[in-house]
Amino acid sequence: MIDLYDVTIIGGGPAGLYTAFYSGMRALKTKLIEARNDLGGVVTHFYPEKTIYDLGGIPGIKGEALIDQLQTQAETFQPKIIKNQAIADMERRADGTFKLISTNGDLHYTRRIILAVGSGTFEVNRLQLEEAREYEGTSLFYAVRRIQQFSGKNVVISGGGNGALDWAAELAPLCKRVTVVYRGERFTHALEHNLERMNQYGVQVNYASEVTGLSGENGQLRNVTVRDAGDHLQQIKADALIVNHGFQCGLGALEQWGMALETETNGILVDQRMETSIKGIFAIGNAASYPQKLYLIAAGFVEGPIAVNSVKHDLDPDAPSQAMVSTHHHFFTEMI
Ligand SMILES: Cc1cc2nc3c(=O)[nH]c(=O)nc-3n(C[C@H](O)[C@H](O)[C@H](O)COP(=O)(O)OP(=O)(O)OC[C@H]3O[C@@H](n4cnc5c(N)ncnc54)[C@H](O)[C@@H]3O)c2cc1C
Repeated sequence: MIDLYDVTIIGGGPAGLYTAFYSGMRALKTKLIEARNDLGGVVTHFYPEKTIYDLGGIPGIKGEALIDQLQTQAETFQPKIIKNQAIADMERRADGTFKLISTNGDLHYTRRIILAVGSGTFEVNRLQLEEAREYEGTSLFYAVRRIQQFSGKNVVISGGGNGALDWAAELAPLCKRVTVVYRGERFTHALEHNLERMNQYGVQVNYASEVTGLSGENGQLRNVTVRDAGDHLQQIKADALIVNHGFQCGLGALEQWGMALETETNGILVDQRMETSIKGIFAIGNAASYPQKLYLIAAGFVEGPIAVNSVKHDLDPDAPSQAMVSTHHHFFTEMI
């Protein structure tokens, strides 16, 4: 016997998490499936320690704290949350419901699908050195999760994009020394305030250079070898190396589902109900595309409920068009 859900949300970023909560407000049997082993999407991966200032009513909150709160909120109505499973294929069944197939072969059955997949699954571009694996996770990092762990250390940052310079500016005041190694001759899109801060704290920049070797012992980096445009090699003392060489992302197998996509952004085109060109499949958050789309966390907090209300209406045309506001919602009033 299959376990059929009313709605399955694919993607556990901020949009997916909030939507799981709202779906509970509508008493829908809800499942959320996330490809990574942690929830929070790009917030968790790229900026857990950065402060977000543009959420209504919250003057400032660290990315990680926001995700913790979203997760707690998402769990209010006890949806089924599955991590470490990327959904790849979808089949429409004879009765109009869907079968979802994850890359590990697990099957999920659902009446409706809400895609909250952002730009799809993402993989950082790793440092292309054989010895890199030995240091990854101990002294070679692809993201800064805990700024304090670099306190008092010699840190080398490889990369020259905004992300790399952001970290350089942020780490400089608390590190012993920060060196940026960048292949370009100059920074082309650097934010003024990052450059000012890097100057202020004496960040060393090696332009037209790249990291060509690592040395250390037991996973602990000691030195980074850097080669410049003239093929000169230099050893830089390093307790940690942070690599910011961008990342690969994409809808992957989801593109084969046949939903209409926006040509420039590859976003999934949706109508006012947040429904895609395939009936019964909705898209929200950064994945969704429509005129005047805002790529903000707050946008997903509106698009998710619109999609959920559309699902509710499809499954129960007599239900109210939206959930009772939380101040009057029986679930919360009965708690008082
Ligand atoms: C550096 C940076 C700073 C930012 N700062 C701000 C800010 O200050 N304020 C603001 O409002 N916004 C900010 N943003 C934008 C904000 O992070 C995004 O708008 C938001 O994360 C979008 O949420 P989402 O849930 O739609 O997508 P995402 O956060 O991208 O989450 C999508 C999730 O779906 C999962 N997924 C993808 N494909 C599959 C699949 N096939 N199966 C299962 N799971 C899948 C992914 O693993 C991911 O966890 C910033 C973005 C960046 C990169």
